Amino acid sequence: MEKKKIIIIGGGVSGMSVGIYAQTNGFESQIIEKHSIAGGICTAWYRKNYRFDYSIQWLVGTKEGAFHNTMCETNIINDQVQIINAEIHNRNIAKDGSDLIIYTDLDRWMEYLLSISPEDKKAIHKLASDIRWASHLQPFDIAPALRTAFKYTKAFFHCFPSLYIAIRHRGKNFTQYIESLNIKSDVLKKKLLNIYGEGNYACYAFLLIMGWYFRKNAGYPIGGSLGVAERMKSKYESLGGEFLFKKEVEEIIVENGSAKGVKLTDGTILRADYVVSAADGYTTLFKLLKGQFKSPKLDHVYSKWILFTSMVQVSFGINKELHTDYSIQVVQACGEKIGSTELKHNYRILNYNFDPTMAPEGKSCIIIRFDSPYDLWEKLDKEAYNEEKKRIEEDAKKILEKHYPGSSQHIEVCDIATPLTTIRYTGAWRGSYEGFIPTPKNVIDQLDQRIPNLDHFYLAGQWLFPGGGIPPSVQSGKWAIQLICRDEKRKFVSKPQ
Ligand SMILES: Cc1cc2nc3c(=O)[nH]c(=O)nc-3n(C[C@H](O)[C@H](O)[C@H](O)COP(=O)(O)OP(=O)(O)OC[C@H]3O[C@@H](n4cnc5c(N)ncnc54)[C@H](O)[C@@H]3O)c2cc1C
Repeated sequence: MEKKKIIIIGGGVSGMSVGIYAQTNGFESQIIEKHSIAGGICTAWYRKNYRFDYSIQWLVGTKEGAFHNTMCETNIINDQVQIINAEIHNRNIAKDGSDLIIYTDLDRWMEYLLSISPEDKKAIHKLASDIRWASHLQPFDIAPALRTAFKYTKAFFHCFPSLYIAIRHRGKNFTQYIESLNIKSDVLKKKLLNIYGEGNYACYAFLLIMGWYFRKNAGYPIGGSLGVAERMKSKYESLGGEFLFKKEVEEIIVENGSAKGVKLTDGTILRADYVVSAADGYTTLFKLLKGQFKSPKLDHVYSKWILFTSMVQVSFGINKELHTDYSIQVVQACGEKIGSTELKHNYRILNYNFDPTMAPEGKSCIIIRFDSPYDLWEKLDKEAYNEEKKRIEEDAKKILEKHYPGSSQHIEVCDIATPLTTIRYTGAWRGSYEGFIPTPKNVIDQLDQRIPNLDHFYLAGQWLFPGGGIPPSVQSGKWAIQLICRDEKRKFVSKPQ
């Protein structure tokens, strides 16, 4: 019997997940990827012998749960992958030089907070108990449309403490949540408020992050983002899947309300029984489908939900071992300038000394990241763009020198990736590398994988979930194939039988 064919647009982690489960379930599949390598945003690049990573700092599901199962099935993690659990999430440095360390071990963090403000025992215990309760959230293994009332009831009992916290703090952003703890010490309150600045970031998202750390279920895989992408690619190809690199989809072919294939920018037409788009949501809906398929929800989301601000990454390869106890430091720098960008909140400085795959022995890889609005970059001509990169390099070197005195004279390579780089290589709308920000209003919301009035077509990827991230993106790839198996009336399997 001839196999049904699925065309997958985009070879990021979500597209590869779709492909792996498609092959596992007996479909023929093809991934169309406009870049020359797999991984999308989950990537890294080499300059001299340094590897500059663009994504993973922590991966939810490295130990247990539905995300864990999916990551094992898609080869994101396997027995050979070393997972490390950082002791410190990050060190947050205020403008006056004082700092706050966020330990991943909850008891240790509470002890530390109490040492800053013993009088705030009650508030600190409240924070700890909210984190513990939030940590009970279990992601679903099954696509929303396939969940039965029984599944929801079972999940409700499992997740009740976390849902209680979500409801209790419904509508609160991080700042409002910290205010609600009634912290007596101004010093402690200020330090905590600095964690997210004044953005409208949902407090529940923060409690979940800390909860996952607390359960040691958010580790870091040695080899980072490129390692993940390469393992997924090899799994997909070992199952017989086919990648088409350097091919860009221009249009999704729709006939009689049903997706029938894709047209590439080189004019090639590829026909299929199903199309799954794992490209960024805006490109899919408004370019490839020409904005013809709408719903009140989609209109609302694409006009009202806030995007993660695009960012600049400055990567340094340094011919010297640079030690630090803090691999991730978040430095409050509101009002300071890097190049033409006036910082709204902070910049981050990462030292990858915890991963030996990032720099040759005796050398170091340091990365500086900062938000830089797309509007600043959108209209720059080539000359202005190169000038801006030069200015950024100069400013970034000063920052490097401030944190690692004497290091700038050992720089072997400096690489600057801008919002335009992100767009060129991944197509991410306005350079938003994680899609929509989780705000108090949308933190537990998500988009449907099916678009109304369009059959044989599904969406996958980070644009379905506020907050983005690899685990939900990969999970949505699995869900897409569960839905196609339902349409085809065949039993979904998660592993080759
Ligand atoms: C700095 C940074 C830190 C991060 N940290 C973490 C972290 O610690 N943990 C975590 O879980 N996540 C993290 N993320 C987020 C994570 O990397 C993303 O959520 C995830 O990789 C998104 O995967 P995706 O497949 O949904 O989308 P993408 O990676 O955007 O994949 C889409 C793919 O589609 C291709 N494409 C687009 N349009 C077309 C077209 N027309 N034709 C053909 N191909 C097309 C693109 O080239 C791309 O390869 C981070 C991201 C960044 C940038």
